[in-house]
Amino acid sequence: MKRAWARFPIIGGMTPIQPLPRLARLLGIKSLWIKRDDLTGLAFGGNKLRKLEYLIGEALEEGCDLVLTGGSPQSNHARLTTAVANKAGLEIWLFFAGSKMGLQQGNLLLNQIMGAEMTLTGVYGSKALLRVMEEKADEARKAGRKPYVIPVGGSTPAGDYGYFRAWQELEKQCGSCQLAPFDEIYVAVGTGGTLAGLLAGILLHSQETDLMGISVWKKREPLQSDIHTCTTHLLKWMGEGEVTVSMDKIKLFDQYIGKKYGVPSQSGNEAIRLLAQTEGIFVDPVYTGKALAGLINRARQGLLKEKHVLFWHTGGTPALFTHHESLLDEK
Ligand SMILES: *Cc1c(COP(=O)(O)O)cnc(C)c1O
Repeated sequence: MKRAWARFPIIGGMTPIQPLPRLARLLGIKSLWIKRDDLTGLAFGGNKLRKLEYLIGEALEEGCDLVLTGGSPQSNHARLTTAVANKAGLEIWLFFAGSKMGLQQGNLLLNQIMGAEMTLTGVYGSKALLRVMEEKADEARKAGRKPYVIPVGGSTPAGDYGYFRAWQELEKQCGSCQLAPFDEIYVAVGTGGTLAGLLAGILLHSQETDLMGISVWKKREPLQSDIHTCTTHLLKWMGEGEVTVSMDKIKLFDQYIGKKYGVPSQSGNEAIRLLAQTEGIFVDPVYTGKALAGLINRARQGLLKEKHVLFWHTGGTPALFTHHESLLDEK
């Protein structure tokens, strides 16, 4: 049985797909394109808006009046959830990992401007944060509220469905621009929900494309199992539970994380400069710069000479301003 999904519309139309001819020439790539999910149209944009269309759609359908989510104080997901909750007229409570807010810049500054209620939890990790949020939601329920809890990164079946739809959007867009299917698509991977949605698209549309997931957080094996779980849940939720999830359509790379999640890397910063200086487009030091560094490294190994490649920009640009020191240092 197929479910109908409530959608709270945010992204009007398709995000642009654009050629990167100068960067392609510099790196020796036959054909290089970018999918601009940094231009999803609200509060500086990013991939979480595709998830939030369906997450907030579900919250509204369930009659909720309060949204709880969390992450690091500089989480893009937290910033975009606040923006969408404001737009939908829902109250928003953010729960941050750790015990320090850190720099009052970037996403934290934007959350302050948007009036989010923010709490430092003192706990670390997605699971521990989810437990805190569930407790707070229970308290709110007892006080007569109708809370909707979104886990870190928004990677639930409803959220990941947004990226299944994104896959369909890409296919339609390639069709209308008479663009051949891509050989490889590069995308930054955090919790894995974005990649899971794209994988569901590939599996259901039996496409030849390889997904190249560049991890910015976890090691390869645990990430692979997370993506497998997300994809299985999504397909079941979509009424496609009989489809087997074969992970051989995904290649995962964990060598571009650098020191750790949230800390800029030298190759990521170089990628930021290279794209800005050849094409005038910004990627960020936490996610998309590291993903682009993976693509650049493979191009320099000569692996993309004959390939038709897409870089899927997932947003995150406010982080440029929280990491200004590292970007200036290496100039
Ligand atoms: C959250 C995020 C990602 C990763 O998405 P997941 O679905 O968690 O893997 C990638 N890029 C940016 C900019 C993000 O904010």
